[in-house]
Amino acid sequence: MEEAPVYKRVLLKLSGEAFAGEQDFGIDPRFLEYISLEIKSLVEAGVQTAIVIGGGNIFRGIEGLEIGIDRATGDYMGMLATVINALALQSALERIAQIPTRVLSAIEMRQVAEPYIRRRAIRHLEKGRVVIFAAGTGNPFFSTDTAGALRAIEIGADLLIKATKVDGIYTDDPLKNPKAEFIQEIAYLEAINRGLRVMDYTAMTLCKENRLPILVLNIKKPGNLLRAVMGERVGSLVR
Ligand code: UDP
Repeated sequence: MEEAPVYKRVLLKLSGEAFAGEQDFGIDPRFLEYISLEIKSLVEAGVQTAIVIGGGNIFRGIEGLEIGIDRATGDYMGMLATVINALALQSALERIAQIPTRVLSAIEMRQVAEPYIRRRAIRHLEKGRVVIFAAGTGNPFFSTDTAGALRAIEIGADLLIKATKVDGIYTDDPLKNPKAEFIQEIAYLEAINRGLRVMDYTAMTLCKENRLPILVLNIKKPGNLLRAVMGERVGSLVR
């Protein structure tokens, strides 16, 4: 008999930066192909998989300020950027991985995506569909990290996976400081107090208050997602 996954329902937070792959901007088709197959391995292992996507590869609200766009408007532009990424991922998941996928948007745009309805999201997951949550929380002044934490709690996920380009949490940025030390496991409060930028504070606080563990892992290493849900020691755990 095949081993069963340790986590039954997970929420994967992918940054917009990851979508850009080796590019500075936009969507790298190689990343789409790669991540679709990684996600497929989760679905095939029987894990209900939901995804929250960032938009930083296209637009961040804060960038708008530099060109005279007020913060709230810029944030809406950023949320729309996440919808573009969501549609690209949906298309790749269905075409490359042959997995039925639904995009649920926090900002209504019925011609493009279903509106976010919590019960409907759970129903999709139960039917084995991958659910992509687009448009963040639907509110300016929040981040897609916070959207990830919020949606994970709403759908009763047992793990929030924060995908990064390094192996987990370090005492400093390991890409800049070779002396940065790896942290295998840490408590929410300690991570917050030490200013370890796992996710923003709003997201961290939500996870802490709702006892949702966060696993920070290197998304660039093939097989990491599957290893993590099967209970292997991958990345760093905040709990
Ligand atoms: N955003 C927002 N509310 C949300 C989620 C996102 O206003 O609930 C906006 C915000 O401007 C943010 C942009 O969308 O800069 C893109 O999201 P984020 O920066 O979190 O993406 P990532 O860094 O993961 O690529």
